[in-house]
Amino acid sequence: MRGRYAPSPTGQLHLGNARTALLAYWHARAQGGTFVMRVEDLDTQRSRPEFVQANLEELRWLGLGWDEGPDVGGAFGPYVQSERFWLYKRALETLRTSGQLFECYLSRKDLQDVAGAPHGTGAAHGEAQRSLNAQIEARKRREGKTPSLRFRVEPQTLALHDEVVGNVTLNPAADTGDFVVRRADGEWAYQLAVVVDDIAMKITHVVRGDDLLPSTGAQLLLYRALGAEPPAFAHVPLLLGADGVRLAKRKGSLTLSALNEAGVRPERVVGLLASSLGLIERPLEAHADDFTETFELGRIHKEAFRLDESHLAWLYGG
Ligand code: GLU
Repeated sequence: MRGRYAPSPTGQLHLGNARTALLAYWHARAQGGTFVMRVEDLDTQRSRPEFVQANLEELRWLGLGWDEGPDVGGAFGPYVQSERFWLYKRALETLRTSGQLFECYLSRKDLQDVAGAPHGTGAAHGEAQRSLNAQIEARKRREGKTPSLRFRVEPQTLALHDEVVGNVTLNPAADTGDFVVRRADGEWAYQLAVVVDDIAMKITHVVRGDDLLPSTGAQLLLYRALGAEPPAFAHVPLLLGADGVRLAKRKGSLTLSALNEAGVRPERVVGLLASSLGLIERPLEAHADDFTETFELGRIHKEAFRLDESHLAWLYGG
């Protein structure tokens, strides 16, 4: 059994990231598996080197340890995506040969126009987008425009047994549609990189936030196209702020670094998160390793958890 946590170093980690990281860690440890840390710094615009270090320090402060990762090495490295581009290139060639990719010249604006959505909510890329692409392709090519590469998604449903959510029917044509594997600016897309890395690192169990469930159909198609068995998936419920909205790095949600600086003890954070998951009845000071023996994914609360003032008071020593 090999599990992983895969932070994107686009900011400091918040309590929601910590909760998912703990779950992935507890699951791997409870199964006697190997826990891998992988830094997903694919997006060169948004990722920052200082956050790579900061995120690893935040997770260590929380009490996590990993068997393989950027700072400890391991047999499946490098553990930083920006050092793995050659693997994505190789996978791209496999997909290209099998005829499942196509060049897409649609700009963000074109996509919004086709979707016809008034506020440009991204409808999945499908028939209408392909047809517009076919109309403008020759012209864009003459103009020397670089296309993105998309994976063609035909209408279909995929059955998934998720270890937390249960049986789900995924509809990738509606969820992502034809998804990007390499962006027009040459950057690699998340969907491709995450699958290539989980295959190459022999990950058997993916524990991650349920905001990624809609990406799972696209990823299952990539596993199939690359001739690999998919791992088991467990999509865990998210942590919500007092406003009922999920925590987000860009909103400046409470980060582990900020809590550390404010003198909050990591045992308080672990205890609060464990109680938010229903592993203990009420917050108690606890160490991350207190849960590794007994942890079972099947026992966690299945609903998102909303933080309120009393939780923050507990963190700060109330
Ligand atoms: N790097 C992704 C994130 O931080 C997680 C990807 C995954 O777990 O599949 O949201």
